Amino acid sequence: MSDVKTYESNDIIIEWRPSVCVHAGKCVRGLPKVFNLDQRPWINVEAATADEIAAVIDKCPSGALTYKRK
Ligand code: SF4
Repeated sequence: MSDVKTYESNDIIIEWRPSVCVHAGKCVRGLPKVFNLDQRPWINVEAATADEIAAVIDKCPSGALTYKRK
């Protein structure tokens, strides 16, 4: 698990593992203002509340997205 990217706000830390992602799109459809492949970085952790982000990450089928609440 060497390829972990982290995205951090004051409330939450998101971790994303590209090699685990199956591109099911649950994240980009569930919360497009945060998970947007057209932006860099593709995750904007400031664009929604930690609760909203956590709810979508809980639906990630592969476990590529995880989070830690601060
Ligand atoms: S929901 Fe998870 S598996 Fe699906 S695209 Fe997003 S990160 Fe990848």
